[in-house]
Amino acid sequence: MQRDKTEPIQVQCPKCRYTMIIYIPLEAMPRCPECNTSMVIKELLDEGKST
Ligand SMILES: [Zn+2]
Repeated sequence: MQRDKTEPIQVQCPKCRYTMIIYIPLEAMPRCPECNTSMVIKELLDEGKST
């Protein structure tokens, strides 16, 4: 486990469901290239287990 490395996460546009992969913490949360809506995290390794 290398904690200093960047991790890929999948983000999704809540409006048109466009998905893309970004690398944290290198990249900030992007806007959807299709409709310019702020994208949300779809898959994150450390969260979402108790939801
Ligand atoms: Zn969109």
